[in-house]
Amino acid sequence: MTFTVAIDGPAAAGKGTISKAVAAHFNLPHLDTGLLYRAVGAQMLAGADPVEAANNFDLADLAQDLRKDDIAQAASRVAAIPEVRAALVSFQQRFATRGGGAVLDGRDIGTVICPDAQVKLFVTASPDVRAKRRLEELTGKGIDTDYATVLVDVIARDKRDSERDTAPLTLADDAIILDTSDMSIDAAVAAAIAIIEKKLN
Ligand code: C5P
Repeated sequence: MTFTVAIDGPAAAGKGTISKAVAAHFNLPHLDTGLLYRAVGAQMLAGADPVEAANNFDLADLAQDLRKDDIAQAASRVAAIPEVRAALVSFQQRFATRGGGAVLDGRDIGTVICPDAQVKLFVTASPDVRAKRRLEELTGKGIDTDYATVLVDVIARDKRDSERDTAPLTLADDAIILDTSDMSIDAAVAAAIAIIEKKLN
């Protein structure tokens, strides 16, 4: 049986942690699709043409630290280019359908990449909570930043991701919303697993 779980939502809502935990729980492979856009964004920062970088995308491009804020912002800029998105669709769809199923997280998984996914979750949280979580993550890595800077970045990325013409961040009609603003990460993971199990039964 192909069992696809699509997990979308804005930056720093907890998607990544939830997706990894859901994949481990159901023993499914997981693809963090944001990394694809980050890899293209990183190549653009290094001077490459983003469309060319996306056309030549290779898994090896993910073998570097892409979790930096300048790369996140570059990712969201290249992600608004239709040719970049088009070049990355088939890799994601092949991952989703290669048998047995998969968990994919991103912005357009339930709407564009896997519109037939068995379960669609939209994981969200208030901008304030997301900025605090991202700040903790960045300072934990030794990156020197502050709440105001991170909040501005989170809001700018939300705006760009939601307002772009191609595959904007939006709720699929059949997605279930999981607002993690007032949840611990363990509670959010448990809620996601419960939603998926209920859908499967
Ligand atoms: O999820 P993450 O923060 O790593 O994503 C980085 C950027 O990549 C997002 O801000 C978004 O612009 C883009 N992205 C996208 N579609 C996806 C996943 C990520 O446009 N499916």
